[in-house]
Amino acid sequence: MFENLSERLSGVFDRLTKQGALSEDDVKTALREVRVALLEADVSLPVARDFIKRVQDQATGQAVTKSVTPGQQVVKIVHDALIDVLRGEGEPGALKVDAPPAPILMVGLQGGGKTTTTAKLAKRLKDRDGKKILMASLDVNRPAAMEQLAILGMQIGVDTLPIVKGEDPVAIAKRAKTQASLGGYDVYMLDTAGRLSIDEELMAQVEAIRDVANPRETLLVVDGLTGQDAVHTAENFDERIGITGVVLTRMDGDGRGGAALSMRAVTGKPIKFVGLGEKMDALETFEPERIAGRILG
Ligand code: GDP
Repeated sequence: MFENLSERLSGVFDRLTKQGALSEDDVKTALREVRVALLEADVSLPVARDFIKRVQDQATGQAVTKSVTPGQQVVKIVHDALIDVLRGEGEPGALKVDAPPAPILMVGLQGGGKTTTTAKLAKRLKDRDGKKILMASLDVNRPAAMEQLAILGMQIGVDTLPIVKGEDPVAIAKRAKTQASLGGYDVYMLDTAGRLSIDEELMAQVEAIRDVANPRETLLVVDGLTGQDAVHTAENFDERIGITGVVLTRMDGDGRGGAALSMRAVTGKPIKFVGLGEKMDALETFEPERIAGRILG
């Protein structure tokens, strides 16, 4: 469905005069194609524009080496710049979970994959880092969601906070904290309620939970296939709650990954993990190289 960017660019450069260095006009023409590729990959227009500007300055005047075509050279420059933006600062996949019990707050919209990701992450911290984890569901409006976390906990061998009917989310967060201290847990994870869209009630609730738990990490879980909606969600949650990182789910789907670039550019927050399926081990550290390859096609 998508024409490969390298192919597109070789076409462009075939029409241009061959020179020893990339001229401003050459680069401009080529970057028009790059812009189309970015937009097709669901990168937002302002982000694509900024990105193109950054690459343009970098590429103009670069000597064309004999081993590659000018088209390949521009693709390489674009690829490296994409990785730069996507990577940002810090180590992808790293979490601040020292000083036990370390709270991790999981936030996001309903259906984004929050509960699944909470369990996947708990399993990862247990298996890889040998951490003792307690998970708690705070989704009091959906008993099924609380049950779901308990079932996943049993599957992966991670404790969940016993469900007490009628308890409000803030009280559950407090109980999780106490239980985590008394039980000698390294980390406790709070799986908050999601809504179909962002609303005041949800945000106020998550805020109150945040203030009680004082989380070391606040991870936003968003469906990577929802493109610009995912970016708006991230903006909203970051402004109101303050997130420390993002988990992009459904990256096993056929999305082009442009949301990752927009999200990174707009919020400045790192993408820490990607979800690659429904199974409990389908969670991987975010790899900028993979997404860059996907965006360029
Ligand atoms: P929540 O409402 O945000 O807690 O969402 P859930 O964790 O219940 O997930 C909703 C659905 O998405 C479930 O059927 C999950 O198995 C599925 N899901 C979650 N993460 C992924 C992922 O990375 N890839 C795929 N293919 N499905 C996922």
